[in-house]
Amino acid sequence: MSTNLSESGNSSITSSQLNLEADVLVIGGGPSATWAAWNAAAQGAKVILVDKGYCGTSGATAPSGTGVWYVPPDPQQREEAMASREALGGFLSERSWMERVLDQTYTNLNKLSDWG
Ligand SMILES: Cc1cc2nc3c(=O)[nH]c(=O)nc-3n(C[C@H](O)[C@H](O)[C@H](O)COP(=O)(O)OP(=O)(O)OC[C@H]3O[C@@H](n4cnc5c(N)ncnc54)[C@H](O)[C@@H]3O)c2cc1C
Repeated sequence: MSTNLSESGNSSITSSQLNLEADVLVIGGGPSATWAAWNAAAQGAKVILVDKGYCGTSGATAPSGTGVWYVPPDPQQREEAMASREALGGFLSERSWMERVLDQTYTNLNKLSDWG
């Protein structure tokens, strides 16, 4: 890929050809995409991740102050967490999905912590 500086000093791409090979191409660099890329790489795939911006500064996650539902797998704490969300959501939520989110969030955040 080559870039050119115009007289005004703005960078513009004048030609682009970049040949890369991978087993998995992930388009997007938000948490969904980076988890997918990490999981593929962890299983031995050669992965390329592309984002129109920068990982961590583009997409919905970066500006949203996304809160995560990190509740230890203690039955009483999990019950209280789900009961609270059920009420907030007008009792329209499905417990099986809540349990899945709680389990996955707990696992993934602990992984992030382990990685530093
Ligand atoms: C105001 C607000 C508050 C929220 N609060 C919460 C909350 O408290 N808790 C919660 O769980 N969720 C919350 N959400 C929802 C949560 O933020 C999103 O579900 C989550 O961020 C989506 O993550 P993602 O990885 O799927 O997508 P994104 O974070 O949006 O990432 C998409 C990525 O794809 C890239 N991309 C897009 N188009 C292209 C393209 N054509 N080529 C290359 N790259 C591209 C973008 O640059 C970006 O990096 C909130 C959302 C908003 C807007």
